[in-house]
Amino acid sequence: MLAPNHSRKLYPIIGLLLVLLIVAGGYIALLEMQRKAATSAQQKEEPLITTPPESQEATLADLGEQPDWTTLDLWQDTITHDDFYYLLTEIYTTDNTWKRYITIHPDHAIIRTDTSKPGATYRLNFASVISEASPNRNWNSVGELPPGTKDKPLAGVHIAIDPGHIGGDYAKIEARWFQIGDSPPVKEGDMTLLTAKIIKDELINLGAKVYLIRGSNQPVNPRRADDYREAALAKAASLGKTDEETVSQYQQKFFYRTGEIRERARRVNLAFNPDLVLCLHFNAEAWGDPLRPTLTENNHFHVLLHGALTRREIAHDDERFEMLVKILQRSHEEEKALGIYMAQSLSKATKLPAYQYLNAASRARPIKEIPGLWIRNLLANRIYQCPVIFLEPYVMNNKQVHERIQLGDYKETKMIQGEEKKSIYREYADAVVVALRQYYLDYRIIYNPEGS
Ligand SMILES: [Zn+2]
Repeated sequence: MLAPNHSRKLYPIIGLLLVLLIVAGGYIALLEMQRKAATSAQQKEEPLITTPPESQEATLADLGEQPDWTTLDLWQDTITHDDFYYLLTEIYTTDNTWKRYITIHPDHAIIRTDTSKPGATYRLNFASVISEASPNRNWNSVGELPPGTKDKPLAGVHIAIDPGHIGGDYAKIEARWFQIGDSPPVKEGDMTLLTAKIIKDELINLGAKVYLIRGSNQPVNPRRADDYREAALAKAASLGKTDEETVSQYQQKFFYRTGEIRERARRVNLAFNPDLVLCLHFNAEAWGDPLRPTLTENNHFHVLLHGALTRREIAHDDERFEMLVKILQRSHEEEKALGIYMAQSLSKATKLPAYQYLNAASRARPIKEIPGLWIRNLLANRIYQCPVIFLEPYVMNNKQVHERIQLGDYKETKMIQGEEKKSIYREYADAVVVALRQYYLDYRIIYNPEGS
């Protein structure tokens, strides 16, 4: 009799315990579900660094377009992990910011394709062994060319010459124009074209096929500043500026610089497919008022190869893609080998000191063993899809250089400050041609029928 009474007293306690058990079980199950969800989110995100691009910056370079990343399929399984890592870290970037966009595994890399979408990636598989075959590309390295001859060491080599800037009536808006008193004005775009024409003739004599990307002081770009109104408005807005002066400056710049270089690249990449592009420039130091320019005692030369993307540049989806095309085509090997000849030849011909970048680390890398040879990311040396040598000899507002520019082009030599000198254009052109001639003689198989 007693026992049932006792049991009956226990019923509420058992009930309470059961309720507690169910609640606790449910709670544990809920926690477990949350943990699993968190883990799977982490796994999904794991190869990606989720740091967004700095502030509200654009994810594309000026006038850039979202690339078709499947193009990189051409180079699946063609580069080894070690070659990829070396080129990425030692040549093509300036710091570790690439880790935000590229994760390197032993046998593949995961690359972010669209920074505005955290999950958008491309997988590039590495080759397990170094291949003897050339990677997929529209140009020939010196080693891939059929034999040349002693007289025509450049036979069959396709070279595009890009005379920097536009010159002529456009020199003033390009800010590549200055004038001292009544003397003829200095226009960089005219000077590069004059030099390009001399180089062209000399290279044809050595057997090369030469294409002048610009043959007059007119833009290659069919668009004008008005056509860039929308792009300039968007650019100014992204910088938090909406004043008409800023918008108009960007409209101009997009026409004569960004749009012009992009149009030149379109023609080079689609129509000419050269083995090499030579970008010709004359350097300058800040001259201030173009009608009362500051003259300088400084004078120097340097030669640029492509690479050294800054943290802001690698954040742009299109620049990152273009860098990968360069890496996968192995452009650097050819650029460096020829760049050494260029820097040494310019140094010898011009007797100029090598230019030294101040605070180089953030935007330029030196090729340490060769004075005057540097790596930098410029629009022109990035978007031409072949090796590019970018030349920057002479400071135009140096006193002696200015005097030589005033003398114009001439054959033979003239006495300048006690020294017989070629025209500045021929000195420049000859240095370029000497370097190319020697480079192909040294690296190419030279057919020699006489056996002498
Ligand atoms: Zn220039």
